[in-house]
Amino acid sequence: MTKASSQRSSYGLSKSRISAFEQCPRRLWQQVHAHERSKVDASTQMSFAAGHAVGDLACAQVEHGIMVEAEPDLQAALARTAELVAVADRPIFEATFEHEGVLVRVDILVPEHAPTGVTWHIYEVKSSGSAKAYHIGDLATQYWVIANCGVAIASAAIRHIDTSFVLESPGAYTGIFNDASLLSDISGIAATREAMVKEIRQMLAGDEPVCATGPHCRAPFACEFSAYCSGLEPAGPEWPISELPNTGARLAEKWADDDIFEIAELPEDAGLNPLHARIKEAVRTGEVYLNTEGVRKATADWAYPRIWLDFETIAFAIPRWVGTSPYGQVPFQFSAHVEQADGNLDHIEALELSGQDPRDTIAEALAGLPDSGAVIAWNAGFERRCLRLLAQDVPRHRDALLSLAERTVDLLPVAKNNYYHRDQRGSFSIKAVLPTLLPELDYGDLQVADGGDAQLAYIEATDPDCPEGRRAELAADLIAYCERDTLAMVEIYRKLAGG
Ligand code: SF4
Repeated sequence: MTKASSQRSSYGLSKSRISAFEQCPRRLWQQVHAHERSKVDASTQMSFAAGHAVGDLACAQVEHGIMVEAEPDLQAALARTAELVAVADRPIFEATFEHEGVLVRVDILVPEHAPTGVTWHIYEVKSSGSAKAYHIGDLATQYWVIANCGVAIASAAIRHIDTSFVLESPGAYTGIFNDASLLSDISGIAATREAMVKEIRQMLAGDEPVCATGPHCRAPFACEFSAYCSGLEPAGPEWPISELPNTGARLAEKWADDDIFEIAELPEDAGLNPLHARIKEAVRTGEVYLNTEGVRKATADWAYPRIWLDFETIAFAIPRWVGTSPYGQVPFQFSAHVEQADGNLDHIEALELSGQDPRDTIAEALAGLPDSGAVIAWNAGFERRCLRLLAQDVPRHRDALLSLAERTVDLLPVAKNNYYHRDQRGSFSIKAVLPTLLPELDYGDLQVADGGDAQLAYIEATDPDCPEGRRAELAADLIAYCERDTLAMVEIYRKLAGG
């Protein structure tokens, strides 16, 4: 063995590394050997934050538990765990075990005393609303390590969020978790771990494995090396069939059998639906499809004053406000451009960053919007849902909010039926359509540029430790972003209608 390969074989493993290997060997190799780390995106930061909060709550609900600290080092954690397991007089949090160089920390380990001796219940806490397939692999790794440390295991469960839970009074979180008992599902997988660990060590000691990109790059996790791997592969088709909306991936697979990869090469008798046929034509000719007459006809009964509306929402794994549920969307901001028949625009907005329940403030401001005229949103189901939920939660504005919900119409299908620019790349999100019509209104100049950024900004601004100056800066960024969304709708509509 060379010096380099002996160094490589000494890398420790953990359940997350085994899980990365199961997704893709190259992903784990890159995680271990790559010098550059990719940036953690907004949604990953949100899910880390949710995971920590859920883990803390799960521990707080187990009485008399004791935490095994990872400090000063993991050797101390292993020794402390061994002491606590020997005494077996209370639940242990982050109990730490090692077998064959694989280190695991168990979220919650609970002893059960019987005449035949002590057995242990394993609980792995997850912030998801159910036990996922990859959780089973994680649990199997833990089971394999712990059982090989001589600990008798009575049960193994994923403790996950019950999304039907409703917070009935402040701090009343009993019942927020469900346990999915998985001992019978994991023992077979655990039996494969020994061989897998050997395979992983061999892989890590060698050169970077070659793995083609594919659907596995997105599930169960979006791989952080996708730009790197795509850059290593030969350039694909310029306008791939997979870009066709809804069924593109399936069509790409089907036509690959005939060596057809480009949208423009799809034959006349390919049986494309009208939208796909329109996209093919736009890709083939490079010409923009726009049916202004169709836009005007579809929107002729959208009465003035037109209210162009957009919400920003926050969803916590652990609900903060009475009447809300895990991952329930709670609006904390809206922007509305109110347009009169002569084209005059007024901007109305509300933003609640105190950290208190924002529903009342937002409902109050919404109730002040005009009580007639069409309410226009992009992908309007979301705005309609927000309005109905607010109507339910803030009864004093129920009628005004339900009226807004009933008057809500959708600009997205109007665009979908009457417009296509090939640079949309098959997407009808407002962020895909806007730059093809109004590049000057793009979001590139904004600090908050999408819904994920907006949620992170909300969390930072509502932290009691956030300095006033920073909070004001975040508020300005949020207002600029939400306002841009509704102004973009107005201007997109004007372009589509030929105005
Ligand atoms: S992008 Fe795909 S192929 Fe590349 S390391 Fe990640 S999962 Fe593997």
